[in-house]
Amino acid sequence: MRLPFICNECLFGQGEVASPPYPSYVELRDDGRYEFLCPQGHKTITVLQQQKFEILFEIGAYALIDGYYRESVASFTASLERFYEFFLLAKAFQNKMGDKVFDSSWKLISAQSERQLGAFIFSYTEQFLKPPELLNQNKVRFRNSVIHKGTIPSREEALDYGQAVLNTINPLLVETLSAFPDGVQQTIFKHILERRESGDTSASTMSMATILSINDSQGREKNLEAELENLRWWRQRW
Ligand SMILES: [Zn+2]
Repeated sequence: MRLPFICNECLFGQGEVASPPYPSYVELRDDGRYEFLCPQGHKTITVLQQQKFEILFEIGAYALIDGYYRESVASFTASLERFYEFFLLAKAFQNKMGDKVFDSSWKLISAQSERQLGAFIFSYTEQFLKPPELLNQNKVRFRNSVIHKGTIPSREEALDYGQAVLNTINPLLVETLSAFPDGVQQTIFKHILERRESGDTSASTMSMATILSINDSQGREKNLEAELENLRWWRQRW
């Protein structure tokens, strides 16, 4: 998956630009930090603001479009797991836990997704006094057979799975944003800060529109097939 970048200096800098600058493309990176040299030689450092769960869901959607159905199931699954982490961090920050304390405890569960799920279930229950709506057991079995047993899913199955993950995360995201407004802001801030290096005075942040989105989460149901259509439309224009 690639991101289009347009150089800000070419776009807004001094002097006439003969033609509008065309986007250049960078490969998506794990650290969310992009050092970019435009064809005119301007160097920019940009940090992508989106959280891991937002990006991973998007990667799953692109994999679906491209026909990599096993990979899309794996990315949707990773998105859900990273969402649990996002929830736990936002709640911790909201309750004034320092990030070093959080990081120390997170280390104890970071290698085991079942531990993370357990932490999420009880943390959520404590906050909302009800158990969370999780991914249903059929979908969990399907995911396990794809990821652990090498099952090759059809497009339909991968799409259904992606839709189920979307339907699971979206309402939880709405609850998270409303219960932990400060915690969410601090989580985003931590994310950006960790990706900047000392001396990055000129680093800017960039936000991209994603299907699962902190910036666009009113709790309305999203239809994954329709969202894929959107992505296809944009991709043809890049
Ligand atoms: Zn430039």
